[in-house]
Amino acid sequence: MGERILVAVAWPYANGSLHLGQIAGAYLPPDIFARYHRTKGNEVLMVSGSDEHGTPITIKAEQEGKPPSEIATKYHHEFLEAWQRLGISFDLFTHTDTANHAEVSQDIFLTLLDKGYIYKDTVSQPFCPQCQRFLPDRYVEGTCPYCGFRGARGDQCDECGQPLNPAELIEPRCRLCGTPPQFRDSEHFFLRLSAFQDKLLSWVRKQKHWRPNVLNFTRRYLEGGLKDRAITRDIDWGVPIPLPGYESKRIYVWFEAVIGYLSASKEWAKSTGDAQRWRYFWQGDEVKSYYFIGKDNIPFHTIIWPAMLMGYGNLNLPYDVPANEYLTIEGKKLSSSRNWAVWLPDYLARYAPDPLRYLLSINMPETGDTNFSWYEFIRRNNDELVATYGNLVHRVLTFVYRSFDGCVPVPGELDSRSQAIMEQAKDTLNTMDRLLYHCHFREAIRSAMSLAQETNRYLDEKSPWKVIKEDRQAAANSLYVALCLISHLKTMLYPFLPFSSQKVHEFLGFKGSVESDGWQLHLPQPGQRLLPPEPLFSKLDEGLVAEETARLGHAH
Ligand SMILES: [Zn+2]
Ligand SMILES: [Zn+2]
Repeated sequence: MGERILVAVAWPYANGSLHLGQIAGAYLPPDIFARYHRTKGNEVLMVSGSDEHGTPITIKAEQEGKPPSEIATKYHHEFLEAWQRLGISFDLFTHTDTANHAEVSQDIFLTLLDKGYIYKDTVSQPFCPQCQRFLPDRYVEGTCPYCGFRGARGDQCDECGQPLNPAELIEPRCRLCGTPPQFRDSEHFFLRLSAFQDKLLSWVRKQKHWRPNVLNFTRRYLEGGLKDRAITRDIDWGVPIPLPGYESKRIYVWFEAVIGYLSASKEWAKSTGDAQRWRYFWQGDEVKSYYFIGKDNIPFHTIIWPAMLMGYGNLNLPYDVPANEYLTIEGKKLSSSRNWAVWLPDYLARYAPDPLRYLLSINMPETGDTNFSWYEFIRRNNDELVATYGNLVHRVLTFVYRSFDGCVPVPGELDSRSQAIMEQAKDTLNTMDRLLYHCHFREAIRSAMSLAQETNRYLDEKSPWKVIKEDRQAAANSLYVALCLISHLKTMLYPFLPFSSQKVHEFLGFKGSVESDGWQLHLPQPGQRLLPPEPLFSKLDEGLVAEETARLGHAH
């Protein structure tokens, strides 16, 4: 009986294209993890969706003069296409603007209200007398009281990074019309986070398997003391409050977006024809839930969402939150507004998916920030994917195909060197098993690549292309071993490089999918018919480095 794994993936805001920082931070890691577990024969549910509410969407919609739903739908479709092309294998990628999500969010809201974990209070909110509306934090701009920057927003100063509230801004103004806002009282609902302080702290202290960055951040945050937070806003785009008299207000995005993990699981269950099947991934000790996010999202997943789950009851808390650090681009902090970013649709229009998956895996920002540069992308593609792995596969398959009638050669007795490298492959598979299980993706792909290098050394020593002239059986032996090692490599690399692994699987004459063959060493049968091999990867021209870096920082 396999394990059950919920792979919960961060919800991207549907207000712009995805960039490589998001892919390295929150989307590639869960896909590697899900593919690994599926290959192990474990049951995986991997869900996420587009976050379609909140002011990042409405601001974009107002800029473009379109309804928020139109903006959100456009990017939602772009995301769906990107997942498919990059091979991010969601079981369901939905969005927050669905009746199901509203229903699940409202149920949690009402249950927490009923249990006293949500309460009403009056707050002073900016109101624009010209626009005749309350202004969300991001709709108020002014001068930062900390650094004097004139374009600070009501939620944060982008210049000095200081979190703000609108009342702190000097000379505040409405970002829509420029009028100074008034402050008016408005009734809102608050999540009683303070009630969970002790319970959360004792829970977090037990999470010794969490990454140190996640654990330390969360403990510091909790030890600073939790304040109750308003979870509703005076806006008209979002999930309605399920109580009469609050028609002009909505549940705020940070409260309902995290509920998406649960609502998506319920939507998935309905689609399978067994509406209760979501429980299988949310209740009981036998299932583990992993939340894959970027580090800016840590408190929502280690404090706020667990508090909501504790308050609601009878649902599993996160087992692990393997948050990643940031990816810099050419040594500089990524910035969407300055277009210092590599956009996923642009990448996919020009290059194959596996070289990107390779680079972002081998250079994953797991324990500290890492850098993406086009120079390194081209170098690793040419020197590692093409030269170390791709050429190994291609030269062995081509030679065997030509010299052994397109079939796996029949080996004789293997010498100790050959036996040793086969043993090493077994060790690598076990090492990778342990690393992947604990979300150490970078180290895992590095061990697979070491085995590929060792296989090249083995072939250089045995040089079957020369030996075949005098001793056909000796050549058959080393080529058979090489085919076995290539078959092992395609399994080990499958979570990282699914497209090329599936190709190798087929070149070797295996049927079905790599995944369905399981996480095990898979020996080709002597006599097994091969398919005519083709190169796995293409060498990229070094001139592309200059061409690609020139795009950075210019208008998108
Ligand atoms: Zn500032
Ligand atoms: Zn205004």
